[in-house]
Amino acid sequence: MKLDVDTLRYLVREDFKVLTAVEMGMTNHEIVPVEVVDRIAHLKHGGTFKVLKNLLKHKLVHHDSSKYDGYRLTYLGYDFLAIKALVNRGVFSSVGRQIGVGKESDIFEVATEDGNIMAMKLHRLGRVSFRAVKSKRDYLRHRRSYNWLYLSRLAALKEYAFMKALGVHGFPVPIAVDRNRHCVIMSLVQGYPLVQVKQLQNPDEIFDRIMSLVVRLAEHGLIHCDFNEFNIMIDDDEKITMIDFPQMVSVSHRNAQMYFDRDVECILKFFSKRFVVHSTGIA
Ligand code: ADP
Ligand code: MG
Repeated sequence: MKLDVDTLRYLVREDFKVLTAVEMGMTNHEIVPVEVVDRIAHLKHGGTFKVLKNLLKHKLVHHDSSKYDGYRLTYLGYDFLAIKALVNRGVFSSVGRQIGVGKESDIFEVATEDGNIMAMKLHRLGRVSFRAVKSKRDYLRHRRSYNWLYLSRLAALKEYAFMKALGVHGFPVPIAVDRNRHCVIMSLVQGYPLVQVKQLQNPDEIFDRIMSLVVRLAEHGLIHCDFNEFNIMIDDDEKITMIDFPQMVSVSHRNAQMYFDRDVECILKFFSKRFVVHSTGIA
C-alpha cells in the first residue's frame, strides 16, 4: 500500500479532530453515524461535514450509506493518526521509502531531524481475512465489527513488548524504540532476510547459532511460532537478527511442542535445501 505522507502536511487541527472522532466512534460502531462523529468532534458551525468530505477525498475514511450515513477509518487514516502521534512525541520527523511488505504488515524507513534512520512497522491484521469474513454473513450478523483496528493494535503491542523484553535478555533483536496504535518503531536492521542469501561463509556456524537461538528462547519460556528464513536477518558480517514477534507463545501453550518442532523444522529444511551443513550442534 502506498503511504503518501504529503497529505499529512496539509491536514489541519480540525482534520485530526474529526479523524480521531471517527476512531473513537469505531470502538462501538462498525460504521460510525455522521451525527456521532459530529458530536464527538464538536466543531463549530457544522464544520464536521466539510472536514469529512476532505478526509474522504484523501482516502483517510471510507463512506458507507448502505444502512445509514456513516464513516469508518481506512488503514491510511489509522496510519496517519499513529504517525502524527509519534511525530508529535518527537520520535521521528519524516517517513521514507517502503522497505518491506509482510503478510500482515508494511515496513517503512523513518528518520529524525538529525538523520537517524529507523524502521516503522504498521500492522495490518485482518487485511487477508477481511474478505473471508465478509463472505460469511451469518458470522457477521452476530458481530459488531471486524475489529481490525483492535487486532492490529494488539499485534503491535505484543510485538513491542516482546522486542523490548528479548532485547533486555540479550537476544539479537531490533531495539524497540516506541509504539502507537498499530505502529512499532524499531532500529533499522542492516542486512537481508536469510531467504535472499545464496551463500554463507560459515553455514555450519550460522545454522548452529540459529538453532541455539530457538533453544535459548524456549529456555526463557517462549516459542517464536514463525521462525523461518523470512524472519531472520543476516548482515555482511554474518551477524543474525531475529524479527517479527506478534505471534510468539509461551512454552505452556497447549500446542507448544508442535510450534517448537515446526520452528526447528523450518530452519532444518531451509538449510538442508540451500546450504551444505554438517551440524555438530544441538539438533
Ligand atoms: P510480517 O509480520 O508482515 O512478516 P516482518 O516483521 O517480518 O513483517 O517484516 C517484513 C519484512 O520487512 C522483513 O522480511 C524485512 O525484510 C523487513 N524488516 C522488518 N523489520 C525490519 C527492520 N527492523 N529493519 C530492516 N528491515 C526490516
Ligand atoms: Mg515476517
